[in-house]
Amino acid sequence: MPGYNTHRRFNYAVFVIIAALFYFRSLILFEPAQLFVLGAGFFVGTEFITPDLDIESKAIKRWGALRTLWLPYKLLFKHGKSSHNIVYGAVVRLLYIGIIILGVYYVLFRALPSNMMILPLDIVLIFLTGIIIANSLHVILDMIF
Ligand SMILES: [Zn+2]
Repeated sequence: MPGYNTHRRFNYAVFVIIAALFYFRSLILFEPAQLFVLGAGFFVGTEFITPDLDIESKAIKRWGALRTLWLPYKLLFKHGKSSHNIVYGAVVRLLYIGIIILGVYYVLFRALPSNMMILPLDIVLIFLTGIIIANSLHVILDMIF
């Protein structure tokens, strides 16, 4: 299985190549701000929320003290199995961390946020798409090697 840095290099290379192809073919699908949000999600999906959170990986060490949050995840998901599913692996991780964030919010404020959408829905969806694409590239690279 490719290491953390191999995954990072692969992800960023694919991102740059695809962005360049779109740019030079004048296929403008995103506004510059949306592309930035997609890139931010892609960065988070490459560096922090990766399929390898199911093992003691470099990705999990990057969480520092917060990596204990992923302990139940590691226990629940065997390495390379459903965590590396290209369809729902990333969605399960996002739900997992989303539930924890909401849980912490609830403990702190004794209520759920009155307005769940502090950002516009399209921005949130573009950000999450960036994470899911980065996670998919990770799984694809794992399948190749
Ligand atoms: Zn992996």
